[in-house]
Amino acid sequence: MAYRAGAVMRDMEFMQFHPTAFYGKENPTLLLTEALRGEGAYLLDDAGERFMIGSHPRAELAPRDVVVRHMKRVFDRDKTDHVWLDARHLKCDFLRERFPTVHNGLKNRGFDLCTQLIPVAPASHYYIGGVLTDTWGRTTIPGLYACGETSSTGIHGANRLASNSLLEGLVFGERTVRELNRYLAVADPAVRKVRLDLSDEPREGNDPAVVQKGRATVGQVMIDLCGMVRNHGDLDKARKTLTALRRSLAAPGLDVAELELFNLLTVAEHMVATAALREESRGVHLRSDFSERDDAHWRCHSLVHRNAITGELVVETSPVEGSSGAKDASAGKGSR
Ligand SMILES: Cc1cc2nc3c(=O)[nH]c(=O)nc-3n(C[C@H](O)[C@H](O)[C@H](O)COP(=O)(O)OP(=O)(O)OC[C@H]3O[C@@H](n4cnc5c(N)ncnc54)[C@H](O)[C@@H]3O)c2cc1C
Repeated sequence: MAYRAGAVMRDMEFMQFHPTAFYGKENPTLLLTEALRGEGAYLLDDAGERFMIGSHPRAELAPRDVVVRHMKRVFDRDKTDHVWLDARHLKCDFLRERFPTVHNGLKNRGFDLCTQLIPVAPASHYYIGGVLTDTWGRTTIPGLYACGETSSTGIHGANRLASNSLLEGLVFGERTVRELNRYLAVADPAVRKVRLDLSDEPREGNDPAVVQKGRATVGQVMIDLCGMVRNHGDLDKARKTLTALRRSLAAPGLDVAELELFNLLTVAEHMVATAALREESRGVHLRSDFSERDDAHWRCHSLVHRNAITGELVVETSPVEGSSGAKDASAGKGSR
């Protein structure tokens, strides 16, 4: 909505995956907290090997992106889509007491944390990118504020540390309200209105079956082609599929599911465009074709906004505060 109103979005390629969600068809699924590995649970491949040993000095306690990267390596090697969490060597009373939600959640799904291996796979968990704001919640549109997960203050860098989002909500929620009160006291009511591109005219919109199918397509494209580890070929396919989907849809009516599809599609387009732009691996953004971090070219933010005249999506870069920015930011500049 903020993008449609003309706001600038930042770092939209940075989606954090949590390594250990319960593997299954549920969405959302049960999250198996990192504290389990903190207390000594292992990650095993199909052969029962602890694949994180030798992969990182902290083994299962490596940062999220590192664990996810090695899980993906195991998936590709073993032609599978999940690994196993093993807490069988920990005391059952302790597990039940320390992890009641996980223990009961698994029990309801037919698994016993004390005696069985638990199938796990990474799940998208936290969106680092979002609506560009300053530290007072101000977006690039006067009178439009954002805070929490939907915003991009820059505090998470390219790889949020666990628990920082609740802190973010507390800190920036309070600051945004303070700033908003100040703004409302001085702003001219005439300039307070932010325009979205929702038509006042009733529109027919799309058939619910088309909306449902479109939503499934966006989800599948993002899982298959713009997930944990990306590459140019997949991202190009993703871009083409999303473009074709958008072209196939009529302008939305006022149905919630339909508007959600358009919002999801917009965010997916941003993620694909910026993931394709950033030809390096940094934090949670992993590229198999550019597997190293490249400060010389990509120590910068990505920015997305809508061209006010053509309505086209514009992708650019901007320097990271306190650095001279990307040496060659223009190399990554483009209109997509
Ligand atoms: C399983 C799980 C576990 C997590 N554990 C942790 C943790 O331990 N520590 C931590 O720091 N973070 C954790 N996170 C991340 C953290 O929970 C979120 O980042 C945080 O809750 C985001 O808060 P928020 O208020 O910004 O957004 P949300 O909590 O998503 O709130 C946004 C609200 O806006 C409403 N909304 C949406 N669209 C509209 C609309 N058009 N009009 C009106 N309302 C609308 C939604 O219904 C929702 O209530 C976890 C996330 C998940 C998924």
